[in-house]
Amino acid sequence: MLKGIIIKMKVLIVNSGSSSIKYQMFDMENESVLAKGLVERIGLEGALITYQAAGQDKYILETEIPNHEIGIKFVVESLTDAQHGVIRSMDEINAVGHRAVHGGVIAESVLIDDRIKEEFEKLFSLAPLHNPPGLMGMNACEKLMPNIPQVAVFDTAFHQTMSPSAYTYALPKGICEKHKIRRYGFHGTSHKFVARRAAEITGLDLNNSKIVTCHLGNGASITAVKNGKSVDTSMGLTPLEGLVMGTRCGNIDPAIVPFLMEKENLNIDQINQLMNKKSGVFGVSGVSSDFRDLEAAIEEGNTDAQLAIDVYIHCAKKIIGAYAAVLNGVDILVFTAGLGENSGAIREKICENMDYLGINIDLEINKIRGEEKVVSTIDSSTKVVVVPTNEELMIARETKEVLESIS
Ligand code: ADP
Repeated sequence: MLKGIIIKMKVLIVNSGSSSIKYQMFDMENESVLAKGLVERIGLEGALITYQAAGQDKYILETEIPNHEIGIKFVVESLTDAQHGVIRSMDEINAVGHRAVHGGVIAESVLIDDRIKEEFEKLFSLAPLHNPPGLMGMNACEKLMPNIPQVAVFDTAFHQTMSPSAYTYALPKGICEKHKIRRYGFHGTSHKFVARRAAEITGLDLNNSKIVTCHLGNGASITAVKNGKSVDTSMGLTPLEGLVMGTRCGNIDPAIVPFLMEKENLNIDQINQLMNKKSGVFGVSGVSSDFRDLEAAIEEGNTDAQLAIDVYIHCAKKIIGAYAAVLNGVDILVFTAGLGENSGAIREKICENMDYLGINIDLEINKIRGEEKVVSTIDSSTKVVVVPTNEELMIARETKEVLESIS
């Protein structure tokens, strides 16, 4: 192995959306972020790129960005800029790590080649909002940086350790095989990152642990992690299943779908739109998908906002309870992502009346936001830990590992 190259490795992380590219440049010698930013409104009027080198002012360039390739070109130009840049030339980038949402049954991070891109493309119908722009990002980087290894890090990969009993839906076998219908799970990069970190913080051996990780952002999922491996997770074939979310309904009686389609005369797009964009706490409250707005509405006496939060909490409790049963106990309960990291009130309500499971929160310590902290009481047999997620760093680590494995 070429130790010198690996120690000095610099990795560019790319997260491509349909009209945006988030990026971060890491120096993996000390896992520091050299620069980061965002390309926005690709293909639209008012496109812009934001760029910020560590410890420097942010700068914004408004320019025409017709496609992802031009977007990536601006990213590389910013990183190598004589005044603001953090590398002298593109050659200093040892690898590019791509966030890839749906990897189907691909179980680990991989070097991107034509076969992987084909696999990824076959999954477009399962992740229509995420996989197509992901592929655009991969193609753009490949074109601009043909000699730099590209690595895909899939949101689904961490969950490939689930057993058939956890990932199989009770639908006719032939239909499931034909359409690759099964539980895949998402947010895997985040669940993996926070489970590891929580074990480190509490001094628990990850390889002999029962951890439940709650990723509560706009999208939200909970995972049961046994001995460092995902054994069950609340999202399914798509990110619609499981928890109540900002605008997604999560678990509902599946019979509601044909019922509503008939009664409201909805087509497939409309029912999808209803369940993905108009439901969740937004749908129940009629106020907002953002919990800060809901809390403000509750202050003003809005009972629908209160109900939305109550439904959310009830659902999260049920899934945690289910995973306590799946794992036969919980050593650590982890909270992460926008809501999990920042809302002491939501953590408190989820953990309320869970002393049967050995979960006891220290209400004072639990007031913290956005920092790593054990928030359970000393005598709580289940440790409750807040761990800010860092999917970009996890992608950078995985990218480095893939590169090391092929060096
Ligand atoms: P995404 O899934 O878009 O990455 P995030 O993980 O950034 O989402 O989470 C965004 C959500 O986190 C917001 O919609 C909001 O509900 C919640 N959130 C963020 N900060 C706070 C806060 N201080 N208090 C309550 N909720 C918060």
